[in-house]
Amino acid sequence: MAHSISPEAEKILDKKFKVLNKGFVRLVDYLGNDSRIVQSARVSYGSGTKTFREDKGLINYLLRNDHTSPFEQVVFTFHIKLPIFVARQWIRHRTARVNEISGRYSVMNSEFYIPAKKDIAFQSEDNKQGRATDAVSPAMMKKVLDNLVDIQDKSYGAYEKMIGDNIARELARINLPLSLYTEWYWQIDLHNLLRFLALRLDAHAQMEIRAYAQVLENIGRTVCPIAFDAFDEHILHSVRLSRSETSALRNIIKGKDTGLDEKQMGRLKGKLDIK
Ligand SMILES: Cc1cc2nc3c(=O)[nH]c(=O)nc-3n(C[C@H](O)[C@H](O)[C@H](O)COP(=O)(O)OP(=O)(O)OC[C@H]3O[C@@H](n4cnc5c(N)ncnc54)[C@H](O)[C@@H]3O)c2cc1C
Repeated sequence: MAHSISPEAEKILDKKFKVLNKGFVRLVDYLGNDSRIVQSARVSYGSGTKTFREDKGLINYLLRNDHTSPFEQVVFTFHIKLPIFVARQWIRHRTARVNEISGRYSVMNSEFYIPAKKDIAFQSEDNKQGRATDAVSPAMMKKVLDNLVDIQDKSYGAYEKMIGDNIARELARINLPLSLYTEWYWQIDLHNLLRFLALRLDAHAQMEIRAYAQVLENIGRTVCPIAFDAFDEHILHSVRLSRSETSALRNIIKGKDTGLDEKQMGRLKGKLDIK
């Protein structure tokens, strides 16, 4: 059986895609593509790739019906540079293999995340884990940026001094802030990458990790475009409805009352993106 090559992915192998002010994502390698998904799904029938249309139909069928194991046959290795606070959210996705730069072994570089002015926002009142959309004055933006940079400079200055005094790197680093950049190799199969993306492309995810998820999605699409289209169709732009929400939609179609109270109706409209 042929080794699977995706021409669009070959073109971007090793290319660094910039994320945030100093981060990047680089596709180091990949194993398998759309063909591998269909080959592995059809193994029990002894037949390999058929027409493009049939392959597309099969991939959509598999994803729609949660037949996920053929998607685990495709594997990606990424090299990622990211702020530590993003890495802390990222590492919660346990179904990947990670190797991170060691702050015990290496001297950490003076590279920190500083948000773009457009991303500086007040605390949201209705979303406890989110940002408000109210405008932030230029004076307040300056105050925030000056504050962040001041603490980053002070903390890295203290680190450098300790390193200069030959204090152990593993100790000297402990006061470095979460905005410091780290790097890792992250290897994950397609099934789990799609799980990661479904959670981290969502509007509820923090903007900074969403920026990385967006780049991962674009790269993944070069390797398996059909699987990513199926992901758009059946996962990313789908919504999960509760029993009462499903019942309300059924009632609407039948021309009956929804049976939902105002709060429930608001939630359903939110899910369906109805203003
Ligand atoms: C918007 C958002 C907000 C969040 N807020 C918080 C927060 O405030 N605090 C917090 O602590 N976390 C938070 N999280 C992290 C979240 O709770 C999950 O830990 C994270 O999204 C990883 O999800 P997962 O476990 O499905 O992923 P993975 O670890 O990739 O696991 C995928 C699936 O594999 C299975 N699995 C993996 N490992 C095991 C295992 N050892 N045993 C059994 N089954 C396993 C599970 O079925 C799991 O669903 C947040 C996540 C998001 C997206």
